[in-house]
Amino acid sequence: MSLNIYYAKDADPACLSDKKIAVLGYGSQGRAHALNLKDSGFEVMVGVRPGGNTMDQAKADGIPAGTVEEACQGAGLIAFLFPDPSQPEVFNKLVAPNLKPGQIILVAHGFNLHYGQMVPPPEVDVIMVAPKGPGNLVRELYKMGQGIPSLIAVHQDASGRAKEFALAYAHGLGATRAGVVETTIQEETETDLFGEQAVICGGISSLIKAGFETLVEAGYAPEMAFFECCHEMKLIVDLIYQGGMKRMRRFISDTAKYGDMTRGPRVIDEQVRRRMKEILAKIQNGEFAREWVLENQANRPVYNALMETEAKLDLDEVGDRMRAMMGWLD
Ligand code: NDP
Ligand code: MG
Repeated sequence: MSLNIYYAKDADPACLSDKKIAVLGYGSQGRAHALNLKDSGFEVMVGVRPGGNTMDQAKADGIPAGTVEEACQGAGLIAFLFPDPSQPEVFNKLVAPNLKPGQIILVAHGFNLHYGQMVPPPEVDVIMVAPKGPGNLVRELYKMGQGIPSLIAVHQDASGRAKEFALAYAHGLGATRAGVVETTIQEETETDLFGEQAVICGGISSLIKAGFETLVEAGYAPEMAFFECCHEMKLIVDLIYQGGMKRMRRFISDTAKYGDMTRGPRVIDEQVRRRMKEILAKIQNGEFAREWVLENQANRPVYNALMETEAKLDLDEVGDRMRAMMGWLD
């Protein structure tokens, strides 16, 4: 099923022009949203933790900033742009008690809404605007007159105008210059989790580690294993990013292509696909969400232990030595 895509002509920024926008969080996304929305002519106030590092940064960038409560005071739209695990507590303690009919809650990722960690009252609009790129790129492209393709979704439409508001906000970010794709909170959340677990974060890091360790255990030099299984990944991914598998295959040798097409499916075989389906099923049935929510409530014992182990990888130790030879990386 293909999705609706919207452009600048489809957006009416005037529908948000009388609304103060509270941008909660001034990190990767928060800073980019606040600056782009301000430059697009909207009234913006940033809300962060008192005593945190970023309040002064927002003020130095010329954006009014205060506590979460101060930013939400009189706001027509409240954007949740700080780490997802912290959002439910802030929502329940500082935002929900003061919500008024007609206000708009906005997120940039659907996890907390989809899995019921934040349940806004029925009289407010709830929307998602999710740029498909990191905050610094959202900001840089905006300044160049371009934009990042973004997703929008309507979770709750109290006013009957929720989609209009989502499009106007996306327009303010510059996203309608590239194209805004309409999805649902469920689809965005489940595909995002699957991608990061099975492919782009979990899949790729485990693939690199498994390849590196296979060569090292077979007696090859770790430096060589690093170059072949980790360093050259970027070359290949860049080509795929620019023009898909067809462009990547234009730039590799026939020997590489033959090995790719005959051996690749043996590594990522039916067993792997079956486990991918299991991972997806646990995203769909809420098991992964419950595990991660409880892990956070327990102060992240498993996460912290794994992070400690992963901080001491042989692959990274060799990699650091090799990267020291690559002056262009600085
Ligand atoms: P960041 O980790 O960059 O957010 C850091 C900011 O949040 C800082 O300003 C910090 O302030 C503030 N902050 C932290 N805790 C709180 C709190 N309890 N109350 C108020 N402010 C707080 O977040 P991201 O930009 O990475 O992510 C924001 C949202 O955007 C998430 O929902 C994420 O899923 C989504 N998203 C992120 C993308 C990305 O590329 N990073 C891409 C698309 C969506 P201080 O430290 O000063 O207190
Ligand atoms: Mg993700």
